[in-house]
Amino acid sequence: MRYDVLIAGGGIGGGVLAQLLARGGKRVAVLERSVAPPKWLRPEILWPAMQQVLLSLAPRETWERAAFLPLQGIRVHDGEEFLPLATPEVFAAARVQPMFTNPNATREQLLQLGGFELRRGVEVTQVLKDGGRITGLRTRELATQREEEWLADWTVGDDGVRSLVREAAGIAMPTRLFPVEFLCLALDSWPATLPQATVHLWPNWHHADSGILAFGAGSLPGGVGVGMVLIASKAFDANPHVAESWAEFCGANEALRAVVGGRKFPGDFVRVARPWGHAERYGAPGALLMGDAAHSVSPAGGQGANMSIADAVVLAELLLSNAPRIDSRQNVTGSVGPSGHR
Ligand SMILES: Cc1cc2nc3c(=O)[nH]c(=O)nc-3n(C[C@H](O)[C@H](O)[C@H](O)COP(=O)(O)OP(=O)(O)OC[C@H]3O[C@@H](n4cnc5c(N)ncnc54)[C@H](O)[C@@H]3O)c2cc1C
Repeated sequence: MRYDVLIAGGGIGGGVLAQLLARGGKRVAVLERSVAPPKWLRPEILWPAMQQVLLSLAPRETWERAAFLPLQGIRVHDGEEFLPLATPEVFAAARVQPMFTNPNATREQLLQLGGFELRRGVEVTQVLKDGGRITGLRTRELATQREEEWLADWTVGDDGVRSLVREAAGIAMPTRLFPVEFLCLALDSWPATLPQATVHLWPNWHHADSGILAFGAGSLPGGVGVGMVLIASKAFDANPHVAESWAEFCGANEALRAVVGGRKFPGDFVRVARPWGHAERYGAPGALLMGDAAHSVSPAGGQGANMSIADAVVLAELLLSNAPRIDSRQNVTGSVGPSGHR
């Protein structure tokens, strides 16, 4: 089967791109390694311009059922009580309503919108080439080890920071680990005593030297919630008593204990490191990169998923109206939008 566009990886950007291209009449396949959403959860904030993109693909109710909640505020605990950092009035005055989202649900929703071929449980193992041009992908089905070849005019790498498409295209992206890592926790309920859709932050005011910098948590649609411990990796790994440090941190704070419940630390949390870097180019003949495969940013400010959606919009416009060109220095070019921005 020959496709107009193959997308390696069904991340948030790949899901949006597949949908935009399918709606524009392109024959698209998404090849995704996972068969189901990950069991672990982390928070993700989406900003208004990117919400608009998602709202153009499915009605608001669809997203709000499982994936989005309009963020009502951010509160920080000063050791005695919560102080408001951001309130609905602040968001209204700035005309910026962030969405607090369940990233697993957003990605599932995108992949289920249909209109393109979705193959899950297949790992992209190789890039196919004809002369100097990338012409498709080879996959291995994880359950059966069956191999398949997929051909396309364009191959897009949305396969994350360790992108195989980027590597096969010979595009360098040196990365370093962000010095703060995350211990993520899915919460199957949210305490009734704390406001919904509000990010709660507990800085570890007195013992940040333990490596435990802060805990943040909030509720998500469906009565569930998500929490995340920020750790300074080096200090955390050098601390032989992290469980005791955590118990001391929680012990000082009733609301924090109510959120975390009886979960074991760190065993019940999933540790996530974040390599960051920037690819030297965004494409090669026959191949384009997007999202973390092209620019894995630090999680400060919550931008990576937003940027991946923005990439999807630009790539969709290029692929639908005006095939992207790879210039002599192998930069991706083409005009986008009515004003012809490059
Ligand atoms: C703790 C944390 C908090 C964050 N918070 C925010 C936030 O608030 N806001 C924000 O905008 N961003 C946030 N980010 C960043 C954001 O998660 C990423 O930037 C975003 O997910 C990148 O999306 P992507 O489309 O590039 O693909 P990814 O989400 O990286 O998805 C890549 C997909 O490719 C698949 N894949 C990889 N290799 C293969 C292969 N060989 N074959 C087949 N499939 C493959 C993977 O299974 C995966 O589904 C956060 C990140 C972390 C770790």
